[in-house]
Amino acid sequence: MKWSLTIARAFGIRIRVHFTFLLLMLWVVVEERAAAGWGAAAWGVAFIVATFTCVLLHELGHSVVAQRFGVKVSSITLLPIGGVAALRSIPQKPAHEIAITVAGPLVNVLIFAGLYVIYCWAPDRVPYFPGLVLIPGLPMDWGGLIGVLLLVNKWMIAFNLIPAYPMDGGRLLRAILARWLPYTRATAIATTIGQVIAGIFIMYGLCKEGWTLLAVIGVLIFLAAGAEGKASRLRGTLQDVEVGKIMTPVFVTVGPDSTVDDCAPWIFQRGQDDFPVVADGRLLGLLTRDAVLEAAQRDGSRRAAELMTTDFCRTRPDAQVAGVYDVMQTSGQRTVPVMDGDQLVGLLTLDNINRYFMFRSSGAARKSAQA
Ligand SMILES: [Zn+2]
Repeated sequence: MKWSLTIARAFGIRIRVHFTFLLLMLWVVVEERAAAGWGAAAWGVAFIVATFTCVLLHELGHSVVAQRFGVKVSSITLLPIGGVAALRSIPQKPAHEIAITVAGPLVNVLIFAGLYVIYCWAPDRVPYFPGLVLIPGLPMDWGGLIGVLLLVNKWMIAFNLIPAYPMDGGRLLRAILARWLPYTRATAIATTIGQVIAGIFIMYGLCKEGWTLLAVIGVLIFLAAGAEGKASRLRGTLQDVEVGKIMTPVFVTVGPDSTVDDCAPWIFQRGQDDFPVVADGRLLGLLTRDAVLEAAQRDGSRRAAELMTTDFCRTRPDAQVAGVYDVMQTSGQRTVPVMDGDQLVGLLTLDNINRYFMFRSSGAARKSAQA
């Protein structure tokens, strides 16, 4: 995700903070200091840090279980509305997806239990808010902090049980449906239910005073469910399609000594974004459009060998496009070299995949199949 800062690493996962999160922190400091002084501002910051530690632990719960099932997790990003764990592939078995999904809210149950022990130990210092009420305000001492965190974790558990995709409850619903239905059908049902619930959130949030945040969350769920629905239809179309069928077999390669000034015109002349760097028939690296454009502004004489990336994914002509597409989505790699043994035989690009999807959705594929 753009505009994020890496603050730590845990279990090989980069922990990132989105800059809007820092804005939220700044806003609390400014508001609280003006209203009640530096002490209140400090407790406000403590509350936000503690809340997002709970969010982070929730995401780590998902991630660590995902890793146990062989799903790579590249990063966790904290946003003001929650956390996002970037899984580099999609769990294949519904049972695995259920375990990965349940692990998140389970962490909140454990945190809640731990905090509840503190409450039982000091019931006169820690306020307890029964049921699900709105957070009464920022805490002013440690007891208040524990009390509010109990409420926060209760909300996180409740929210994640709502079957609105892409929240955990919706993922759980999809995984359960996927035991009987094809994956794309299960996703379609789960995302539709997600959008209906999002609509209810938006209306309730707009009508009831003090619940504006619910409307904002509703909008975000609605958009995310729509995007996931489209991605899932695309994945369904790509099912059983081999890379060799849709890759580009004709492309430009560059040598390690090619300069940026040599390569840049090919971006518009040949319509190619990323260039394989090849020497003696061997693939050395990938020179991306972003690297070319950035270097072109400063020093056009820089060589491909200095600017290319060597950390990228490759595929084979007989691999499934759906799997490669998932990797492209999460890694941001737009061009994947296709290798037959040591030989570079083609490029699979997002453009190939989108055009193939357009072709299949248009009905042209059915006509050409009938002919
Ligand atoms: Zn979750």
